[in-house]
Amino acid sequence: MQTKLSTNAQAVFETVQHLGNHPTASEVYEAVRQSRPRIGMATVYRTLHQLAEMGLVLEIDHSAEGCRYDAHTGRHDHIICKSCGKLWDLSGEIPLQQILLQRLAQEQGIEMLSHEVRIYGLCETCRQATK
Ligand SMILES: [Zn+2]
Ligand SMILES: [Zn+2]
Repeated sequence: MQTKLSTNAQAVFETVQHLGNHPTASEVYEAVRQSRPRIGMATVYRTLHQLAEMGLVLEIDHSAEGCRYDAHTGRHDHIICKSCGKLWDLSGEIPLQQILLQRLAQEQGIEMLSHEVRIYGLCETCRQATK
């Protein structure tokens, strides 16, 4: 099923996978430049967007730095630190009634494709820093 990716797209995709922790587009750019010094910022942005459209990465809209990208494309939830913007995967499932979500979406005229739960808070590092 894998569509053939260009070498640039392949490099960008592998970088998202290697970075692991939901990199922003500029973080991906900085990392991919190590192996492909001639790649442009615009190419990286465009490629990330294409990979998202192909379903190979998730585009997570978040924070002022722009989108973050996630190579873990299965349904999962996130925790976000309000202070430093760190974002990571929530381990474990939050039990939500699909039927109820579907109905709420339908009431808004939306056919639900996916959903996500986000927990916002302060990470340990940020809590220490404010002490
Ligand atoms: Zn934090
Ligand atoms: Zn994630």
